[in-house]
Amino acid sequence: MLTREQLLAIFCKTKALQRGHFELSSGLHSGHYFQCAQFLQHPRLAARVCRDLAQRFRGKRPTVVIGPAVGGIVVAYEVARALDVRALYAERVDAEIQLRRGFSVGPKDRALIVEDVITTGESARKVGELAEALGAKVLGVGVIVDRSGGTVRFARRWKYERLFTLDFGNFTPHRCPLCKERVPLAHPGSVRRKAGG
Ligand SMILES: [Zn+2]
Repeated sequence: MLTREQLLAIFCKTKALQRGHFELSSGLHSGHYFQCAQFLQHPRLAARVCRDLAQRFRGKRPTVVIGPAVGGIVVAYEVARALDVRALYAERVDAEIQLRRGFSVGPKDRALIVEDVITTGESARKVGELAEALGAKVLGVGVIVDRSGGTVRFARRWKYERLFTLDFGNFTPHRCPLCKERVPLAHPGSVRRKAGG
């Protein structure tokens, strides 16, 4: 198992975790920005970290791993590889989460829901509810990074596991200490900078 320090080193080295002065998509300001895709673009590291996540659920004998698109796709794939089971992803269609592309789960499935980063937990919760509605048993939710500040809650019948907790403070702009120090503000998640249309 990787320690918290080892995970932090991986996130910093791959620039998944950056320090500076950032405007988050919520409009809040932060001295840290986390972009999980920066770390997941390195398959060997992604496999190493996802193996630890898989290990937390191995004893529950999942038969399928499901992640919400887009962030959960790579995580589901690597966790499923470690467990030698199927990897699916669920997609948002309008307000609903669906399994498309011929993907299916049923009463014989024991589903593990995974996600790269969790903030409110809404996507993972909807994927779990979808799997249950299709008859599968949902074993739990596993995430690489929890940045909910300890607020995320799932059904008690679901085991919840996170590898890393991000608990850096966020600030409203008028209370932001970095604004007071006139540190230049970056907009990493801003729609104004949306790439690729
Ligand atoms: Zn600020």
